[in-house]
Amino acid sequence: MGWIAFYFNLSIISKEVVVLDECIFCKIVKGEIPCTKLYEDEQVLSFLDIMPAAKGHALVIPKNHYATLLDMPHEELKFVTEVIQKVAAATMVALPEVEGFNVLQSNNEVAGQLVPHVHFHIIPRHKDDKLNFAWEQGASEMAELKKYAELVKGKIE
Ligand code: 5GP
Ligand code: ZN
Repeated sequence: MGWIAFYFNLSIISKEVVVLDECIFCKIVKGEIPCTKLYEDEQVLSFLDIMPAAKGHALVIPKNHYATLLDMPHEELKFVTEVIQKVAAATMVALPEVEGFNVLQSNNEVAGQLVPHVHFHIIPRHKDDKLNFAWEQGASEMAELKKYAELVKGKIE
């Protein structure tokens, strides 16, 4: 692992965790940049978003550096998903005005991913908030849906 870590600017900070030196979320994992921590275990970290879309807007990340969801091992994704559920449940209980939440996760710049370390947003919602995740819904034809379904189904591993 030693020379690989050097070549890719990776740092091994524990038996479990490998971080990328220039990544802002890896710096948070290492404690080089402070964060408002909500939860931490061996594999997962949750902290408040520094530019929140709503009060209590939280992020959940794997401590290991992966750029997108597709780069993550299944096992680690399970750990992260469990923490998303824990933090969302706690947010619902702790903040009385919160009536629901969105979990948002973006992959690659084209989808709005600004920080290339996989992360999940938990965005608390209440009745009169001004947040808008609506998109214009399009029409579809069964033949076209079937065509896309066949294309994708054939690639599921
Ligand atoms: P993305 O657009 O990549 O899905 O979201 C990245 C999120 O990370 C943004 O909501 C942004 O406010 C948050 N963020 C970026 N840098 C920092 C930081 O240094 N600390 C914290 N707590 N959040 C950050
Ligand atoms: Zn990182």
